[in-house]
Amino acid sequence: MRTDSLLAGLNEPQRQAVATNSGPLLVLAGAGTGKTRVVTYRIARLIRRGVAADRILAVTFTNKAAAEMVERVTQLIGKRDVQPEISTFHSLCVRVLRRHITKIGYPAKFAIYDRGDQESMAARVLREISIPTAQMKPGDLLYFISSWKMRGIRPDKAASHAQTDKEHLAAAAYRRYQHALKAAGAVDFDDLLLCTEQLFIESPEARRSEAQRFDHILIDEYQDTNGSQYRIIKGLAVAHRNLCVVGDDDQSIYGWRGAEVEHILRFNVDWPDAKVVRLEDNYRSTAEIIAIANRLIRYNRVRHDKSLIAARAGGEKPKILQFPTETDEAEQTVADIVRRLAREDCEPNDFAILFRTNEQPRLFESELRRANVPYVLIGGMSFFDRKEVRDILSYLRMLVTPEDEPSLLRIINTPPRGISQKAVQAMVDEAVKRGCPVWEVLPHASRLPDCSSRSAEGVQELMRLVGTFRKRLEEKSFADGLMELLREIRYEEDIRRRLKDDPEGQQARWNTVEELVNALAEYESRAKKPSLTGFLDDILLAGRDQDRDKDKQLGRNAVALMTMHSAKGLEFPQVYMVGMEEGLLPHHRSVAVEGDAIDEERRLCYVGLTRAEERLTLSLALTRRKWGKPRPTDPSRFLFEIAGQADNPHAKPEPQSSARWQPSAKKKQPAAKKQRPAGKPKRKKKSAGRRSQRQS
Ligand code: ATP
Ligand code: MG
Repeated sequence: MRTDSLLAGLNEPQRQAVATNSGPLLVLAGAGTGKTRVVTYRIARLIRRGVAADRILAVTFTNKAAAEMVERVTQLIGKRDVQPEISTFHSLCVRVLRRHITKIGYPAKFAIYDRGDQESMAARVLREISIPTAQMKPGDLLYFISSWKMRGIRPDKAASHAQTDKEHLAAAAYRRYQHALKAAGAVDFDDLLLCTEQLFIESPEARRSEAQRFDHILIDEYQDTNGSQYRIIKGLAVAHRNLCVVGDDDQSIYGWRGAEVEHILRFNVDWPDAKVVRLEDNYRSTAEIIAIANRLIRYNRVRHDKSLIAARAGGEKPKILQFPTETDEAEQTVADIVRRLAREDCEPNDFAILFRTNEQPRLFESELRRANVPYVLIGGMSFFDRKEVRDILSYLRMLVTPEDEPSLLRIINTPPRGISQKAVQAMVDEAVKRGCPVWEVLPHASRLPDCSSRSAEGVQELMRLVGTFRKRLEEKSFADGLMELLREIRYEEDIRRRLKDDPEGQQARWNTVEELVNALAEYESRAKKPSLTGFLDDILLAGRDQDRDKDKQLGRNAVALMTMHSAKGLEFPQVYMVGMEEGLLPHHRSVAVEGDAIDEERRLCYVGLTRAEERLTLSLALTRRKWGKPRPTDPSRFLFEIAGQADNPHAKPEPQSSARWQPSAKKKQPAAKKQRPAGKPKRKKKSAGRRSQRQS
């Protein structure tokens, strides 16, 4: 039977999970054991057994993971008219809210604020309650607000969670911020989850109608769900109870964002009849890599003990190297890649360099450039953070909702139309005074004392523009309408003026604009019922975790540079984990606080180790610059744990040139040239596009 042919590619416990047709199901298993494979095969099997594809919802954490899942399922079942709904939590919530948000008092066309919008709103709030920037920056306020929101703490409860003076100030500002957001008909990214949760509580009818859309729900990386995500899923699954979750408590790395690993550990308490499947065979990494990953994770106190058994025997022993400085570390790492590319049968996209913080990749980038090795920095400056993209999106958002204040303020004089900064300030002040959106003040701008006649003309011009193009975009294709708008505001001339000595820069910026027009056209051809709001939702969600760029980048044959957080779920034949030092991994923030923070860093380290399929190299620099001055470092405690010498976490190796690191402080270090053990067997040639086939 065709359905059974699907089961042939699975081991026995995977088969049990995939063949479970209904009821609550938990797959709790270590890294690389095929959890994501179980999810995709199960979706395919349900469809082959006659479940309508659009009655299946699969949720995961990043757009990249969602896109990969779509691809895997399509490969298994072929292209069909009706597809299962495979989405991230945030996109799922946007869709729910677009249908029902009016029930909790927001307009149906609510705007979703991105980081820049949030900052301008936070700045306005701080101004209104007279908190000087020296006391609290908009970014600080947003940090507090977001950490409350991710823990489900609403404005009225924030004060009771505040401890420091700064937190109390932030709690007061949070109330105001939320009020201002709602007045503008807007939500921020964290609100997408909170509002959906609130909607399900306040409108059981909305919850029921959303729940009735599906008969099966599957969730990947369940260990990283936060309270709101957990309750939303429960609300959707409670009637049919066909809920399958897969995850690994040892890979829970978003505690700092409110994720609660207890959700996965408690699954069979919430769903007492849940079937629990454990997977033990790791198909990804060699036995040597699994051995050190197992050794490390055992140091975590609170965890489900589970064994990870390598299905691939043998392999090269992972190496731990130390270098005098961080520059040497980057140079030698890249030199190693270059050597391997020359001698072995491998390609640039077999390699990943993983690091803990966003500041670390710079040196590796310089070295890779020098060595002419193609690389991609994943999670770097996203397409969506570029000025041109943000400008144009602001125009589009203004056309949908002129009350959208951050967008209005962004483009009010971009490109310049004679409106002075003083006039803008006067309009904002007037709006605060009247308690209305700035847009409503615009018609009266000429009456404000600080608004010159030149500024008032500029304001008139902007209002005319918005009026004209709101209509025009309804009549034409969006992409054509947008091109006309760009001509009308002379955006290309503006780029030329801004970058007058940099023709290459002008071209690059203009290419960015073109790319956005392409995105709009592509959206129009793809969407069933295209609307500007739909496009803006799409783009915001794509840009948020920078996966849109990531998708493109991973397709390129290039060395991947990324944080351990963004590497979750991925796999690479050869992995370098760099900066294995106290303060970096574990990060200094987690060293300073009590509780589970070190354990979370250890899980992050475990995620890094278990990305490697065949070769793993860990390295540290004995000195690293801080404010320009080299400072001695301490090796990461995790290295001692991996080496089985955790009792002596403060032992420090003597400074040496690049050398194999030894946990014992007293031992003389072997010389640098010993880095590469001889006689490593050559790998088999891989077929092109192997990476995209891995996550089946
Ligand atoms: P992570 O914990 O990192 O998310 P995972 O448990 O989701 O990992 P997968 O990514 O599904 O694991 O699988 C890891 C690798 O093992 C993939 O390359 C997958 O194709 C392969 N794999 C999984 N199960 C099998 C199997 N039964 N036979 C052969 N290969 C398998
Ligand atoms: Mg996975």
